[in-house]
Amino acid sequence: MNMPAQTLQEPRVGNRVLLVEDSRAIATVLLSQFQQLRDLECTHVTTLEDARAFLRSSAREVFVAVLDLNLPDAPDGEIVELVQSFGIPVIVLTSSVDDEKREYFLQRQVADYVSKNHLAGIGIVVRLVERMIENRDSQVLVVDDSAAQRAYVCSLLFNHGYQTLQAADGREGLRLLQSNSDIRLVVTDYNMPDMNGLEMVEEMRRTRHADDLAIIGISAVNEKGVLARFLKSGANDFLTKPFETEELYCRIDQNMDMLRYVREARDAANRDYLTKLYNRRYFFQRATELHAKARSGELRLLVAMLDADHFKKINDSYGHQTGDDALVAMAKALQAQSGRQGFPARFGGEEFVYLQVLEIDQDPRECLDYLREQIAAIELYGPDSQRVLLSVSIGATLNPGESIDEMLSIADQGVYLAKEQGRNRVVMVGEPRPVPGNSGLLRSGARSSS
Ligand code: GH3
Ligand code: MG
Ligand code: MG
Repeated sequence: MNMPAQTLQEPRVGNRVLLVEDSRAIATVLLSQFQQLRDLECTHVTTLEDARAFLRSSAREVFVAVLDLNLPDAPDGEIVELVQSFGIPVIVLTSSVDDEKREYFLQRQVADYVSKNHLAGIGIVVRLVERMIENRDSQVLVVDDSAAQRAYVCSLLFNHGYQTLQAADGREGLRLLQSNSDIRLVVTDYNMPDMNGLEMVEEMRRTRHADDLAIIGISAVNEKGVLARFLKSGANDFLTKPFETEELYCRIDQNMDMLRYVREARDAANRDYLTKLYNRRYFFQRATELHAKARSGELRLLVAMLDADHFKKINDSYGHQTGDDALVAMAKALQAQSGRQGFPARFGGEEFVYLQVLEIDQDPRECLDYLREQIAAIELYGPDSQRVLLSVSIGATLNPGESIDEMLSIADQGVYLAKEQGRNRVVMVGEPRPVPGNSGLLRSGARSSS
């Protein structure tokens, strides 16, 4: 029987690591390494009782706990049960690992168990915590007709910080992928009613490339040839049932790393290093496609150029670092405005460009004026805590002209006029507006607002 699609299961929201460890030496090394991770808080206690007291008041803040099994008031790993009773994923520090202990840890579903006798073990803990922070932004779709198997895989994923979604067959999996563009990884069974795993993977690959969505296929040992067919259908990787927990984690980590490297390489080529906005090169790639659609009347395309006002003075008065901070703040305002239909880029220096596909009833001037106001409202302070006032002059056009270059040069005329008229304003140029007795004809005109 098909289970209904489950809603998104989210990881814990806090940003705190709870470290319970009575060895001062190990705690010191771990704490100093945790401090180097961004956006991470840390609480360190040395006994079960202190951990209990802390969790009673603050469990909500904790997204992972790193636990020593041998504490003065809990010599036998009792701390694990306590922390797990709050639903918190656990990484275990242990002095030795044998088969019996490993079996016990796996049964208890710990995120990982690490020998603390070597520096390498400390490194593994820190890397896993860092990974768990990164994983929180990633959705994983688990597709399996067995509710028990789905729940098992999802609980393992939850323990490594992932958001999870479940589907009971291929068709439901496809539907969920289409409606959740944040899904980065699919873990799928083969044999399912109403579209099997292979058919589903083939369909998924029509719209999502292997660089952008990883797929791991799972099949039973007796399903001969299925793994090879999974790979041929476009899966990145596979597992054979039954699999070891560590094997699943290892495959998932490797595939997520691969996606991350591809994304970083792509960003290095397409984005501006300082503001992280798209760069000029990538802008032209995207803008040319949109421009073709604007030319054919498929959409209304607004092209705006923004030039920071008296920016040289900002550098001269407050220093280059404050100038850089100002550019980053302006980029953020642009990004916040862009939503689904907007596309901002840094064109060079203190110049930005902003494209927006307008809705039929959307007023371009209103939209740009709002952006201008958002930038003027930025609260930035210089090295002596003085407020740094920022503003931009914006030139824009809806006239598609012959090419995107022509649109940009029309918009640039608007920037020139805005500067001339006193800066911190929007000037629209070459607006396609109806001319009396000759409706639909394009006429050049410049109007400003500030
Ligand atoms: P206007 O209002 O006429 O545009 O005056 P302006 O000073 O902004 O224009 P101008 O073109 O004379 O100067 C631009 C300044 O922007 C000079 C340059 O040092 C600064 N700038 C360009 N890129 C960067 C950057 O990446 N960081 C910093 N801090 N400053 C930059
Ligand atoms: Mg300039
Ligand atoms: Mg300028």
